[in-house]
Amino acid sequence: MSRFANDFLSTLSPYVPGEQPQENGWIKLNTNESPYPPSPRVLDALHTQQAQNLSRYPDPTAKNLVEVIATYYHVQKENVFVSNGSDETLAFCYLAFCQNGVCCPAISYGFYPVFAELFQVPYETVPLSPMDLSIKPESFFHKNKSILLANPNAPTGTALTLEQLEQILKNNPNQLVMIDEAYVDFGAQSAVVLTQHYDNLLVIQTCSKSRSLAGARLGFAIGHSALIQDLNRIKFSFNPYNLNRMTIQAGIAAFLDVDYFQATTQSVVNTREKTKRRLQHLGFHVFDSLANFLFVSHESFSGQTLYEALKQEKILVRTFQNAELTPYVRISIGTDSEMAVLIHAIEEIISTAK
Ligand SMILES: *Cc1c(COP(=O)(O)O)cnc(C)c1O
Repeated sequence: MSRFANDFLSTLSPYVPGEQPQENGWIKLNTNESPYPPSPRVLDALHTQQAQNLSRYPDPTAKNLVEVIATYYHVQKENVFVSNGSDETLAFCYLAFCQNGVCCPAISYGFYPVFAELFQVPYETVPLSPMDLSIKPESFFHKNKSILLANPNAPTGTALTLEQLEQILKNNPNQLVMIDEAYVDFGAQSAVVLTQHYDNLLVIQTCSKSRSLAGARLGFAIGHSALIQDLNRIKFSFNPYNLNRMTIQAGIAAFLDVDYFQATTQSVVNTREKTKRRLQHLGFHVFDSLANFLFVSHESFSGQTLYEALKQEKILVRTFQNAELTPYVRISIGTDSEMAVLIHAIEEIISTAK
């Protein structure tokens, strides 16, 4: 740290992103990106976007993008907030809604406690079921803080049903419930339909996982218009131009290409189920995932051992610092051929360990 740093910097433990190797030749199964390129319509939109326009600021309201997202989800444009990745929406939520604190599942997205530290928000962890690391809805009833949970949860991939989410909403009428649906497009039920009925619900999504736009940085939230106004107050006090022109165009094109979205998410789901059966066959414990990754463990090696052995083969998967998670690795779903290479590598690792 420099001698100019504010005192609180020394107490921060920043989020550690998964490795992003910049050279070719890696099979990247560590950060849950889509293995498929963006829709051809996104590529077209970026081509026709006149570079000349880059001399002008983008639309600070991103009106055209907001309208496309609103139409897609059958809500009004007043119900949609857009941001530079959903991490930015999450940060704004901490600033806007969490002065009394936030409750999160004990095992969940690693960024949640980091934001709590940064924004000095009291952070309560809610234990998971010890049996299967699932979220018990009752454990989120009658809270005295805002609630933030990922559904499907990360890194386990397990999901609550719409009925279970509604129970959490009904049992917290005076708390905001934020559902982070980063992985919802791979088979779970979205709570967006409940936003019309509950003014204490905010649904947060991203184009990073299911819409092949991790590099564009586009996230959004859907909820009651008053919540969206609050988020915009924060945004216009921080960075009014949080979405650049290219990301706005890419987002519009991605939402309009429904067929491509459905085909690529379905492929990921098919590959996930195939990979799950193969890993079980090799002796892995595999959680029931409704996300674009599998959370697995194996009696014969720790998560770190498997991670290192796969890295030798230029395959990246994700391990976790958290002591409870040392047995596990999280494997993002790639293409069928990438997963075939993974399975082959794991077979080799198992046979040499014997
Ligand atoms: C990936 C992820 C995000 C962040 O997504 P960005 O839009 O890329 O910032 C948020 N929440 C969860 C649970 C995630 O896995």
